[in-house]
Amino acid sequence: MIPYSDYHMHTPLCGHAIGEPEEYVRHAIKMGLKEIGFSDHAPMVHKPMPGVTMSFDELPQYQAMIEDVQKRYASQINIKIALESDFIPGFENKTKAIIDSYPYDYIIGSVHFIDDWAFDDPDPKVKEYWKIYDVNDVYRKYYALLRQSAKTGFFNIIGHCDLPKKFGARPTADLTDEIKATAKVFKDTGVAVEINTAGLRKPIGEMYPAPNCLKIYQEAGVPLTFGSDSHDPQDVGRDFDKAVDLAKSVGYSEYLIFKQKKIEKRIKI
Ligand code: ZN
Ligand code: FE
Ligand code: FE
Ligand code: ZN
Repeated sequence: MIPYSDYHMHTPLCGHAIGEPEEYVRHAIKMGLKEIGFSDHAPMVHKPMPGVTMSFDELPQYQAMIEDVQKRYASQINIKIALESDFIPGFENKTKAIIDSYPYDYIIGSVHFIDDWAFDDPDPKVKEYWKIYDVNDVYRKYYALLRQSAKTGFFNIIGHCDLPKKFGARPTADLTDEIKATAKVFKDTGVAVEINTAGLRKPIGEMYPAPNCLKIYQEAGVPLTFGSDSHDPQDVGRDFDKAVDLAKSVGYSEYLIFKQKKIEKRIKI
């Protein structure tokens, strides 16, 4: 059985996703999902980034768009309203204001920037920096930012938590201790990890996080959610059979459903 919820999907408001919310909803229903959550990119806090996230002024439009499908499809599927928010150190107040602007069901905290470098940006000019930076340094900084994100208390779920591997760059050092320290902070702060199937559609060709990494979160007692990170309606619920296999293979037996930033229920897999 596939998990009944897909908690990570986008809308055209972020500027790099296609398809109207309704198309995501219809594809979810077709895939047999009982619940989805829209988690589009929250406004960037340190500078406006059109093409990357919605703007601050678009938050009401986002809310209205999702409430519209929520109502129209209420008899067929549960729809949650969420955000994927970047953690940018030093901009905590602004981040807090955004995530409190509506009664979101959950907030995914994601790290896409290290010292202002969008390390997962496929733009060749931005990707160049992978040749300059030390890969283990990138990962160490990344894990430190994940821990810092969890400690803010802003987030319910931490997104794609080994994202630096997207283009294929894996650490050459053993970073088990970094991941263990991160898992402990996640457990202590009560955030969940997601199995994010988008990695299967990227050069790395595997889900986030990798099995050995996910195993560490499972052993630490960190709860789980599932997300496709769809930027196209066709990707909703994609590879969720593989995601469940991965979850079970590392020992997970349930995942979380959120409502208004609280755990609503736990579903067995
Ligand atoms: Zn995106
Ligand atoms: Fe992301
Ligand atoms: Fe995303
Ligand atoms: Zn994402």
